[in-house]
Order: sequence, then structure tokens, then C-alpha cells
Amino acid sequence: MIRYVPAIGLEIHSQLATNSKIFCGCSTVFGSDPNTHACAVCLGMPGVLPVLNRQVIELAIRMALLTGGEVQRKSSFARKNYFYPDLPKGYQISMFELPLIRGGHIDVVTGKGKKSIRLNRIHLEEDAGKLVHAEGYPDSFFDVNRCGIPLIEIVTEPDFESVEEVTRFLAILKEMLVFSRASRGNMEQGNIRVDANISIRPEGQKELGTRTEIKNMNSFVNVAAAIEHEIERQISMVEHGGRVVQETLLYDPLRGTVSSMRSKEDAHDYRYFPEPDLVPVVVDDGWIARIRAELPEQRDEMRARVQREYGIPAYDTDILTAVPEIAAYYEEVIHAGADPKKASNWVMGEVLRVLNETQTDIAEFKVKPQMLAALISLIGEGAVSGLMAKTIFDEMAATGKNPDDVMEEKGLRQISDKDELRQAARKVIDTHPGEAARYRAGKTQLIGFFVGEVMKATRGKANPKEVNSIITEMLS
Ligand code: ADP
Ligand code: MG
Ligand code: ZN
Repeated sequence: MIRYVPAIGLEIHSQLATNSKIFCGCSTVFGSDPNTHACAVCLGMPGVLPVLNRQVIELAIRMALLTGGEVQRKSSFARKNYFYPDLPKGYQISMFELPLIRGGHIDVVTGKGKKSIRLNRIHLEEDAGKLVHAEGYPDSFFDVNRCGIPLIEIVTEPDFESVEEVTRFLAILKEMLVFSRASRGNMEQGNIRVDANISIRPEGQKELGTRTEIKNMNSFVNVAAAIEHEIERQISMVEHGGRVVQETLLYDPLRGTVSSMRSKEDAHDYRYFPEPDLVPVVVDDGWIARIRAELPEQRDEMRARVQREYGIPAYDTDILTAVPEIAAYYEEVIHAGADPKKASNWVMGEVLRVLNETQTDIAEFKVKPQMLAALISLIGEGAVSGLMAKTIFDEMAATGKNPDDVMEEKGLRQISDKDELRQAARKVIDTHPGEAARYRAGKTQLIGFFVGEVMKATRGKANPKEVNSIITEMLS
């Protein structure tokens, strides 16, 4: 039986983390009402001129620095012409013959060891608009907000030979994009989209087989499933005497199947030509050096540093450094005076829980690091119990109020005053003479009962540690 080896090459589109679009000042913010971020430039009105957003070059160059790609001293934009309703200009500004970055590689480690995946190029381009096909409507709707959103396209060589290699690669690439702040890496918002090119060939054959291309997947799970499915489909086709034809496919994640979008015969002829309205992009050594000096810390460096500086368990470090903004938040809580391990427990526990439940971005989170540090210090002073602190925290997250204010408003201050506690303890002992006698006779487990009664009597506000020692003292 012939064994088949797959060859896979990826084209990854990633939205760059800018506030404004690539050639105009329109906002890139996600989730606005349709057609609210548009101007003459991104709508492609005649006679207006695009102006390149300088930041997109810097963000792309960060990726070159991380992958060892070669930043071209001179690169330029081209027009990719095609007609489709999501493209009001009738062309997309992209880079073609002279991309910003050539070469580079990302190393992956799989069960078979380490392997280098070569990058062919990284270039800049603008996104198209969005067609909305709403259920129950005969018409399609068009949203221009995405037109002109800045993207980088990262193209690999067809070096992948397994889905495992692809999966590892995408995880590392996403980490690079996110930690360099080149992209926000938000998959739900389509910040990273993958096209996979797939071919098979008999083992031993050098020349690659005919490829198909699965377009526009925005989940890594789908990428893996689609490639798996496509490799099997091609093998089965060849084994049954057929031939793979070059075509563009769409993956249906619900059914787990692919369908044909277009074949090679009707493949696009984009009639690329140099973009006449933009000057070439010229990058010098000084600029690259500045970008290198400002390159944010990568995941591994951050992990090692956080571990070293705060001495928290490796488990905590892994969770806290998974998202750079969360790590930054955690460090600010410490800088505001909190103990590193206590801060870690709160961030890993309550903070991540609330962010998750309310689907909130940490940037919009109402409990600012100083406020969480203040809450942690209230526990430390014995002003509130751990349990009360959680109630206060929820209120802070909902309202943005300070912990002191919530504590006073809700009457959640813990009773640590010894006289007050003694009075409460005395009452409980007096009303339970039988239990008191049995305690004195040696049944000291009853301490829990007494503490519980005092807590009940104070509606949970007594400081349980204090109560414990007061009762022990009173009954001895
Ligand atoms: P195009 O511009 O037509 O999309 P490219 O030559 O730029 O073609 O290749 C696009 C992607 O397809 C790259 O990621 C490349 O690695 C991959 N690729 C090219 N040939 C093959 C092949 N025979 N099998 C698998 N992937 C391939
Ligand atoms: Mg392609
Ligand atoms: Zn615009």
C-alpha cells in the first residue's frame, strides 16, 4: 500500500492593533452600529487620497523581529482588482511584488522533535467590508466598518506535514502577535483568519502534489478539523483512481465537510498593478532599531520574570501570563501594595471569573488594580472577612465603587472590637449551658459550634479568628 505525505502551507490574516484604519482616520473599534466608521477614503470615493498609518508598519516589523524575517528597505503597495459587493473601491490595496518582509521562520516542537517552519513573506493590506445575510431576509446587507481595517498577511512555505505541526505553529504565532501587541488576537472578532493550502503526495516523491485551498477559518479548532478532513478526502480520492483538482474550498464546521467555492478555471485574475496614490514604504536601520528597543516582553521572558520576581507557584504564573493585559493588571495590584500570592489568588479567581461571566475586557473592568489592592489590605487588617470581601468585590465590579464605600454602604465592616465580640460570646455561652459544660469536660470540638453561633448572632460580621480565641479563653 502506498503511503501519502501531506504538505500544508498557511496564509494567516491578522488584524493589527491600531485605533484607526490603515489609510484613513476612521475608528477600528469592534461592534459599532453598521456603517458608522466610514469616510470618503475607505468608501473609495473618487479623487480622495489614502495616507498610510505609520503604526501598521511598526507593528508588522515587530513580527519580523520575532520571526527573523528580513525587513525590506523599500516595499510598496499594489492594487488587487476584483468586483465583489464587499469592496466599494473595486480593488483592495495590498502588497504584491515588493512585500514589507521576506523570509523568517517559526520553530515548532512536536512528538517528532523540533522543526523549523519557513515563512515566505509578511505583507500589509486592508480588509474588505462585511456582507450580512440575516436569517429571514431576502436581501443581503453591507457593513463598511471593516473596509480599510489594517491586516498583515503571513504566508508560510508548504513545510507542514501534519495537523499537529499546524496547531503548534498557530499557538506560537498567536502568542507572538498578542505579546508583541501587534494584534489583539481576538478570534471571536475575526482578528486572526487562516487559509490552509493542502496537498498530498506518495511518500518518497519530492515534487508536491496539486493543492486545494480552504479559505477564511477563524478558529484553530476548525483549521485542524478542516485540514484533517481534507487530507483524508484527497487520499481517498486518489486511492479510488481520481485526481485532486486545484480549487478553493469552504469548510462547514457544523457538518465537518468542505464545499467548492471556485475552481482553477474561474480563478481570479486580479490584474495587480502598483498603487499610484501611495509612495513606497522606506524603512531604515534606525527605525528598525527603535522598534526593536520598544519590543514588548514575550511570553517566555514574562513567565520567567514573573516567577522570579514574585515567587508564586508555576501554576499561577502560567495562568496569569496567558494574556499580557491580565499579567499587567496583576503586576499593578502588586505595585499598589498587595502581597503577590494574595493578589494572584484574587486575579486568578474572582477577577477572571467576573471577566468571564460578564464577557468584559480587562481594559473596561471597573475594579482597577489599586482598588483590588485596597480590598486585599482590608482583609489583611481584619476589617472584612474573606467572604465579605467577595461580596464587596462583586459590588465593586458592578458599580466601580471603592471597597471602603461599599463596605460602609452595605454595613459589611467586620467586627473585630474585642469588647463587642466578648459580649456576643458571653450571650451565646449563657444560652447554651449544656454545651459549655460538655466543652469544659473535654469535648473541645464544640468550639466550632460556639463560633458558628456567634457568627450567626452577628450576621456573619464577627471576625471568626478573634471569636475563636475569645471563646477558648472564656471556656478555659
Ligand atoms: P497563491 O498566491 O496562488 O495563493 P502561493 O504560491 O503564494 O499561491 O502559495 C500560497 C500558499 O500555498 C503558501 O502558503 C504555500 O506554502 C502554499 N502552497 C503552495 N503550493 C503548495 C502545495 N503544492 N501544497 C500545499 N501547499 C502549497
Ligand atoms: Mg492564496
Ligand atoms: Zn475611513
